[in-house]
Amino acid sequence: MNKDIATPIKTRQILEKYGFSFKKSLGQNFLIDTNILRNIVHHAQVTEESGAIEIGPGIGALTEQLAKLCKKVVAFEIDQRLLPILADTLSDYDNVKVIHEDILKADVAGVIEEEFAGKVRDLHVVANLPYYVTTPIIMKLLEEKLPLSGITVMLQKEVADRMAAKPGSKEYGSLSIAVQYYTEASVAMIVPKTVFVPQPNVDSAVIHLAIREKPAVDVIDESFFFMVTRASFAQRRKTILNNLSSQLPEGKSKKEIILKSLEESGIEPGRRGETLSLEEFAVLSNHLLPHFR
Ligand code: SAM
Repeated sequence: MNKDIATPIKTRQILEKYGFSFKKSLGQNFLIDTNILRNIVHHAQVTEESGAIEIGPGIGALTEQLAKLCKKVVAFEIDQRLLPILADTLSDYDNVKVIHEDILKADVAGVIEEEFAGKVRDLHVVANLPYYVTTPIIMKLLEEKLPLSGITVMLQKEVADRMAAKPGSKEYGSLSIAVQYYTEASVAMIVPKTVFVPQPNVDSAVIHLAIREKPAVDVIDESFFFMVTRASFAQRRKTILNNLSSQLPEGKSKKEIILKSLEESGIEPGRRGETLSLEEFAVLSNHLLPHFR
C-alpha cells in the first residue's frame, strides 16, 4: 500500500480501515495533497545521498515522498496507534525506520550516530510539525547543535513569519534572533488550510532553515546573549534601557552599568529592542557580561 498516501480518498480509506480518530492534543492534521508534499521535499534540497529525519509521520504521507528520494528516513512518532498503520502504508520501503518516541525526549544525537553516521552525505529534518510544540522542537534541534544541513518544516504561518523576521518589523523578536543565530531562515511557501484533514484553525507555512557552519555572530556566553535578547523584548513598547533595567538580575549600580554598556556598544538607550540587529545584540551582551557573571 505505497502509492501516494496523500490523496483525500486514499487517506480516508486508510483511516477507515484502522478506525483511526484524530487526537487534537497531538496536533494531528494530516496532509492530503501530494503536490504540497513534493514541494516540501523540493525545498528541503534532499538527494539520493541524503538522510532525512521526520517528526510525526502520521500515516506516512510525507515519509513516503522522502523514502522515494532519500537514502534513508528515520521518523519519530509519539502516537502508538499509528505504528501498525505505518508498518502497512510504508511496507514497500526498506529505507524507513519508525521510532516510537516523543521527539522532545528522544536522544536525537544518539540516533543520528547510530543510523546515519558515515552512511549519508548530508542530513535534513523534514516534517509537518505538530503545531502545539513547533517552537520547542525547533529550538531543541538547534540548541543540541546536531549535524544537520537544513530543517524544512510546516508550521503555523505566524510562527514562521516570526522566525524569519528582520529588525524593524513587528514580527521581529527573541525567537527571530534565536533561530537566525543558528540558521538562515526563509519562508518557502504559504499553505492553505484545505490541504489538511482535519483543517487546522490557523494558516500554515513551510519554513526552510539552512544551518550555518558557525553562529551568525560572535558571543562570549550564548545563554547570557539569549537572556539579554529575551529581556530586551519583555515589553515591546519599552526602550532597551528600561527593559534591561527591569529584567536583568539585580546588582549594584545596575542602571549605570547598562547605560555604560549601551554607550560602549554604540546603541542609543532610547531605542527599542525590535530595532537592534543580531550583531548589535551580540556586541551589547559581550559588554554587559562581565558585570553579570
Ligand atoms: N506527517 C503527517 C502528515 O503530514 O500528514 C502528520 C503530521 S501531523 C501535523 C503531526 C504528527 O506528529 C502526528 O502524527 C502526531 O501524532 C505526531 N506528534 C505529535 N507530537 C509529537 C511528539 N512530541 N513527538 C513525535 N511525534 C509527535
